[in-house]
Amino acid sequence: MSRRNNNNTKGPDATCSFCGRPSSKVGQMISSPTGSAICKECIGICGGMFEEEAGEKVKGGKKKLNLAKLKVPNPKDIMTKLDDYVIGQKFAKKVLSVAVHNHYKRLKSQHFLKSDDEDGVEIDKSNVMLLGPTGSGKTLLAQTLARMMDVPFCICDATTVTEAGYVGEDVENIILRLVQAADYDVERAQIGIIYIDEIDKIARRTENVSITRDVSGEGVQQALLKILEGTVANVPPKGGRKHPHQEYLQVDTSNILFLCAGAFVGLEKIVQRRLGKQVLGFRRFTESEEVREEELDEKNILSRIEPEDLLKFGLIPEFVGRIPVTVALHQLTPAELERILTEPKNALTKQFVKLLGMENIELKFTDDAITAIAEQAVEKGTGARGLRSLIESVMLDVMYEAPSRDDITEYVITKEAIDGLAPFSLRDAPNVDPKNEKKPRRSA
Ligand code: ADP
Repeated sequence: MSRRNNNNTKGPDATCSFCGRPSSKVGQMISSPTGSAICKECIGICGGMFEEEAGEKVKGGKKKLNLAKLKVPNPKDIMTKLDDYVIGQKFAKKVLSVAVHNHYKRLKSQHFLKSDDEDGVEIDKSNVMLLGPTGSGKTLLAQTLARMMDVPFCICDATTVTEAGYVGEDVENIILRLVQAADYDVERAQIGIIYIDEIDKIARRTENVSITRDVSGEGVQQALLKILEGTVANVPPKGGRKHPHQEYLQVDTSNILFLCAGAFVGLEKIVQRRLGKQVLGFRRFTESEEVREEELDEKNILSRIEPEDLLKFGLIPEFVGRIPVTVALHQLTPAELERILTEPKNALTKQFVKLLGMENIELKFTDDAITAIAEQAVEKGTGARGLRSLIESVMLDVMYEAPSRDDITEYVITKEAIDGLAPFSLRDAPNVDPKNEKKPRRSA
């Protein structure tokens, strides 16, 4: 494009200031008040240049994926970001930071590999298996990672999938969820993260003596194998069972990161048995490696998991092979639960403080109230999941009352309130009769 500075921008002899061609050739032009003009074609070229620079080309209303723009944070940065949202679980965060970094580094390198760069080394995909009790942060970790990477993310339940021929969903429906999360942008979905929960529920049941096929177990693992490894899946755009004469979305799963999770109840015993045998003489531990009695307690035991334990649990070897990274999350301690209540960016107490702040009421939790909530959650045995329901029930009266009260400026949640022994401590607005302040008033 040559830029000509002529002022001939009007009438039949007008020329485009960018390409220099006359309007008789390029049609209508847009002229500026300063006397230059631009033709339709040059506008298109300039527009395209801007879009390319922004890394996104608008095509059919969708942003085109630009892998060059995909940022791959280094593992330490990922860890720092995870620390903002996930309390404890240090080892799991470390393993995931490395796995996610490597996954997206691999994805980028594959995409930009020039033919002369090829050295025959192919990096395998590092799908991850997260083991841990309910409410220990497995889903939260996955969600936080996907948000950080700004890639489509979906959560599915392995128990809804059955092998073809049985009532249930085809495995392709798992991918459909991701495509839906990406707003049907298949290209973006192809670099997303799929979180498959309850993966332990599709373990082969050894006690299954049925001579027909094992519907819930092995068949589903077999069906998942292909998509975990990488295949071009035919996804029915409306879900449901696949049938002939249907149009499919073709989704390549080779760059989708799969995070599989489950509580794996009973796995501790399998690990313990194996370790017990080793202690009895199959393997000699060096002093630093020595397995002490207390290390063999159920809390730490899963950190010593080996693939063979998963096989014993009922996962088939091919399936375990497709998920090379395994990491165990531990049951959250009361101290960690306390931190979960107050520390993360969107901690539960912060959320309620914000909600009441909208009513100009200052909400406070005493330290021993926080401890009491954590203790009650531990008793419930549902990990951090129990925290929300506890706080919700404690806050119900307050939240019910607050919007219709403008005489209250402060609510204090005390240990007694959590234990259900005392009403909340309220402080009335200064313009209200000070006598009221002393009277503890149940908020509802
Ligand atoms: P699961 O391990 O069963 O997948 P989730 O990740 O769904 O557990 O946890 C349920 C809720 O508990 C999360 O939404 C989050 O608010 C809270 N939570 C669980 N673990 C943690 C943690 N380690 N740090 C902060 N919050 C957590």
